[in-house]
Amino acid sequence: MKVNGAGDRSARGRWARLLHARATARSAIAGTAAGIVILAASAVLASTGTADTTEEVRRVQTITQTMNKISVQINSEDAALRGYLATGGTEYRRAELVGKLGAARADLDWLQRTNAVDRAELDAIRGSYENYNRIVLDIMAHTDDGANVSGYTDLASLTFAPLRDSVLAIGDHHQQELSAYLTEVNRRADLLQVVAVATICVVLALFALCAWVLIGYQRRAERQAAQRLHEATHDSLTGLGNRAKLHHELDAAVRRGLPFSLLLIDLDRFKEVNDTLGHHAGDELLVEVAHRLGDDRRAGDVVVRLGGDEFALVLPAAPDQAQQAGHRILDALRRPISLNDLLVDIDASIGVASYPGDGHDAEQLLQHADVAMYDAKRRHGGVAAYDPALDTGDTSRLSLQSELRQGIGRGELVVYYQPKIDVASRRPCGAEALVRWQHPTRGLLGPDAFIPPAEESGLIDLVTADVLNQALAQLGRWAALGHELPVSVNIPARSLTDEAFPGVITDALARHRVPPRLLTLEITESAVVTDMERAGEVLRRLRERGVNISIDDFGTGYSSIAHLRDMPPHELKIDRSFVMKMSEDTRDETIVRAIVDLAKNLRLRVVAEGVENEDALRALGDLGCDEAQGYHISRPLPAAELTAWLDRSGMAITAG
Ligand code: C2E
Ligand code: MG
Ligand code: MG
Repeated sequence: MKVNGAGDRSARGRWARLLHARATARSAIAGTAAGIVILAASAVLASTGTADTTEEVRRVQTITQTMNKISVQINSEDAALRGYLATGGTEYRRAELVGKLGAARADLDWLQRTNAVDRAELDAIRGSYENYNRIVLDIMAHTDDGANVSGYTDLASLTFAPLRDSVLAIGDHHQQELSAYLTEVNRRADLLQVVAVATICVVLALFALCAWVLIGYQRRAERQAAQRLHEATHDSLTGLGNRAKLHHELDAAVRRGLPFSLLLIDLDRFKEVNDTLGHHAGDELLVEVAHRLGDDRRAGDVVVRLGGDEFALVLPAAPDQAQQAGHRILDALRRPISLNDLLVDIDASIGVASYPGDGHDAEQLLQHADVAMYDAKRRHGGVAAYDPALDTGDTSRLSLQSELRQGIGRGELVVYYQPKIDVASRRPCGAEALVRWQHPTRGLLGPDAFIPPAEESGLIDLVTADVLNQALAQLGRWAALGHELPVSVNIPARSLTDEAFPGVITDALARHRVPPRLLTLEITESAVVTDMERAGEVLRRLRERGVNISIDDFGTGYSSIAHLRDMPPHELKIDRSFVMKMSEDTRDETIVRAIVDLAKNLRLRVVAEGVENEDALRALGDLGCDEAQGYHISRPLPAAELTAWLDRSGMAITAG
């Protein structure tokens, strides 16, 4: 929950940051666009302003030039008049004056036509000018006859002075107008410049912001893509690569074409640890295994976790080197691992397939490594190289699991029974139900061939129910024949954490009308250690119903003796590995003796399995062992054969 909550929060945070970045990018883009529009508008304004200014300057220049021209014309007219008067009205001067008379009229007309200057001003000048010309004509009329002209000089000056001043004033006025206009133009240009500079700064800043946001966005996208790729190719628990990564590496190695080997590693006791010590311990174990595999890694090696308790290694190594590496890995994995304050031993089965000998592509190599691994598993762990002779094409676990499911449905599971005898009287005192699979094509398969995959896939519950059913039915048939023979059934660890399990047992006993005291459930010692709470509760309810509990393979698991005190079973079953060699190896005999003593002191029955010869049976009798089971007494037999055996062995079993 916590992890999910944190995940949700970080996803929400990422989402919020993304939205924020998008909003910022959008604002920045909008701002940049607005800035560009302002700049464009400023440019248009500036250029139209320049055109207007040019037009205005040209207009004022034209007026000024025209006024200057008019000024020159009236000045020269005035000068001609003065010359005429000064020479006393000579004919020559008179002609010159006549030539100059009315010279400014054309320009004044032009000014009027073009509306270049104020109408009132122009009318005033025109009036003054016509007046002046009239006076000049008057002067000439009165001086034709050589009369004295001195009186006219003042009149001419009086008329001319206001005309000249008006002409100059208009020129000045337009010059001032132009100057004011240019000042205004300059002021506007300065303002536009400020706006343009400010806009450029803002646009640059927005552009930088845009770039910053987009680069950040792109970096984040790249990071997320890299993270997604990592997640898609890596196992989140151990940090190792996953199946996709393995395929990728195998394809790459095949493309390189150099020899390499694929090692498929399957842990042998993981299921038990997971079922008994809980998922947390299971996870810890997987992480530790990943560390150990990593510790042994050399340059060029690839280690991945395929899921569950399966790992794989790709080594640039030939088959024999790969086998050596496999053994090194096994040694590393077999070092006890501390989980929940318990030292847990684990083992592994390793299958090796090498390129190019055992396959030409990733798929084939994986399949063949799986076949080899499965072969190793059948042989109780170790390292096995792919052997085409063993590959019947249907040995892959997946096909095995689906076949098993169908096989159970078709009633292909067969229960064999291996009798147990009372060591002191040597009379049959029970039998262990041991499952076999009558496979339609591969013949009779032992439990090692299908119990581990059944445990992995959960099919084991169907197996348990089927065996229990068959064993209880058989118990009833023997009872009808007069043999009251208690039967032991092997129960996987996971049943002990299933609270419905006691009910399943009670129902089965009731259905077959078998008294509970005739049923013993064999569980491995580590199964009890687990989730003590739930296992304890399940065991307590089974005991209350009168079912016997036996600790199977005692001495090989990781139980603590304290559990025997807190949750006493009815019986300890000494593991066959100690019993089989006890007559040759005194250390095994010591262990057997210790277990027998322990059982006696705790008032538990003790059974020795794996009794293969008379010496062992006799030694067990000497040690005070209660019951014995083994090939020396009988191999596991089909029910009918055991019935015959029971009929024959009404007497004590002797050597042989
Ligand atoms: P186990 O419960 O310890 O069963 C005893 C195994 O020791 C049997 O192997 C039996 O054939 C073998 N054995 C008995 N006497 C001797 C002997 O003198 N020498 C040797 N070398 N071996 C002897 P089997 O039938 O192959 O069963 C192997 C394991 O498969 C069993 O070990 C048990 O853990 C599991 N198994 C068998 N049947 C079932 C079942 O119905 N359900 C479950 N969950 N597991 C089962
Ligand atoms: Mg057993
Ligand atoms: Mg056993």
